[in-house]
Amino acid sequence: MKQLMLHWKQSVIGREPFEKRIRLVDNKGVYKWHMLKAVLFLDQEGQLTNWFGSCTNIDDYVQDMKRKDEFINIASHELKTPITSLKALLQLLERMKGDLSNKMIPGLIEKANRNVNKVNDLVADLLNVSAMNDGQLQLNKTAINLAELIGDCVHHIRIDQQYEIITEGDTNIMVMADAGRIEQVITNFITNAIKYAPDSKKIMVVLSQTIDDVKVAVTDKGPGILPEKIPHLFDRYYQVNDKSNHYSGLGLGLYICAEIIKKHNGKIGAISDPGNGSTFWFSIPI
Ligand code: ADP
Repeated sequence: MKQLMLHWKQSVIGREPFEKRIRLVDNKGVYKWHMLKAVLFLDQEGQLTNWFGSCTNIDDYVQDMKRKDEFINIASHELKTPITSLKALLQLLERMKGDLSNKMIPGLIEKANRNVNKVNDLVADLLNVSAMNDGQLQLNKTAINLAELIGDCVHHIRIDQQYEIITEGDTNIMVMADAGRIEQVITNFITNAIKYAPDSKKIMVVLSQTIDDVKVAVTDKGPGILPEKIPHLFDRYYQVNDKSNHYSGLGLGLYICAEIIKKHNGKIGAISDPGNGSTFWFSIPI
């Protein structure tokens, strides 16, 4: 209060517009950020005649900015980790450049590639989200064979030999959809299964059809997800916080999937039996 009065006096003496953020307590005892603003009116001799002021609740805006700052922190950290590894790998390669027969070189190049791919995936997520926020997600729908599309996804995913992706279901199911975007959703489900259920060596992709829609479900036998976390999985920035593990990611993958499926007028969801695995599914109308 003392600070506020001091600031006000300075505005009066200096004939300056007044602006200050303050916290006011509401009728439930909760503090909320408000913006106090006042402009002054002077007469022809330059004498102060009036003030016009406003007090606006800006709490939602302040909380949004806080979340944005936190997100930028996380995103910078996530990007910095693979870039730091990449820098170290390039330094090592630089030292070896005189001896191209060195047996370590292929392994270092492979590691460097993995780190570049991580940076690439994170930046792609950021660009996807900003396009979605601007309402720029346009679909390019064509008739697609879902089994073939799943085959393409499995083919494109960079996975270890130890994982097996098993596809089941009708191979003739056709649907009008944006092939690239649907591939993105299926790829996300499968890469999440590998990332968050690394001990589940088998991943099932099941394709089915009802009168109204077609459904794709990806199941792993990993640690699963607690029931109370499930409703939030498709929220922007949401990550199930497991302190014993650290996985790279921005909590955007499933949010992007949900936006893509929403745009196809479809449904998306997850079911899980903690300890026994999870199934992520989506359906789109025929
Ligand atoms: P990110 O882009 O950070 O990987 P996602 O939006 O893809 O985040 O996933 C959100 C959260 O859902 C993750 O933090 C993870 O804990 C959880 N999750 C996603 N898929 C699985 C899975 N197959 N098994 C267990 N947890 C999963």
